[in-house]
Amino acid sequence: MAQEKSMAIPEFLSKAELIKQGAEARVYRAEFLGKPTIVKERFPKRYRHPVLDEKLTHRRTVQEVRSILRCRRAGISAPIVYFVDYTSHCIFLEEIVGSSTVRDHIASTRQSDCSKELGWLAERVGQILAKMHEEDVVHGDLTTSNMLLRHQEDGESELFLIDFGLSYISALPEDKGVDLYVLEKAFLSTHPNTETLFERLLESYAAASKKSSAVIKKLDEVRLRGRKRSMVG
Ligand code: AMP
Repeated sequence: MAQEKSMAIPEFLSKAELIKQGAEARVYRAEFLGKPTIVKERFPKRYRHPVLDEKLTHRRTVQEVRSILRCRRAGISAPIVYFVDYTSHCIFLEEIVGSSTVRDHIASTRQSDCSKELGWLAERVGQILAKMHEEDVVHGDLTTSNMLLRHQEDGESELFLIDFGLSYISALPEDKGVDLYVLEKAFLSTHPNTETLFERLLESYAAASKKSSAVIKKLDEVRLRGRKRSMVG
């Protein structure tokens, strides 16, 4: 019976639309129980020992689901988890219909010379990350591609966090500081000359959380270590 169930998933995926083929996972768009759904399938990596690979893949799937649920319980927008299959390592998630990545939004807004609008977005990102860190969720892969913006009819926009595959639970300011450092590196290389915008994001992060000063202190330390390393290199 269990085998029959797991057989149904490859068949389901064969009819779904593949939207991303990554090194660790494939992402599909499909309809599941009548709802627009994103399926993330982690596949086996042949270069890893099968037992180790199974353990790692299982852990990443568990961590991803756990972090999404923890965020949603705290009122942080992240896709609803519809279904998880631990045999085929598939997570079925709510598709955030009508959304674009924050990366694309920043790029197109800067091109259309409406850059002032982006201050609001930077503040919103700072607030949502402060809330996520207050829940002790460390994302592990913060980039502007892992944030979605859904534009609503009333002109408001809702910000969602996605792709928690490298996330974990930690209360340590150092882990949260590194999370912000990863974002800073990704942000400034994807969107050149946005230092002021990123500073605004950090100010908003700092204002939104009581625990933020220890995190920002760690971020400064990690930045300094990064600078020293690049000088030696
Ligand atoms: P990921 O590997 O999880 O970062 O997903 C790859 C891409 O699929 C993202 O950059 C988004 O464009 C899209 N995507 C992932 N999850 C969702 C979702 N829940 N709703 C809409 N699009 C998504």
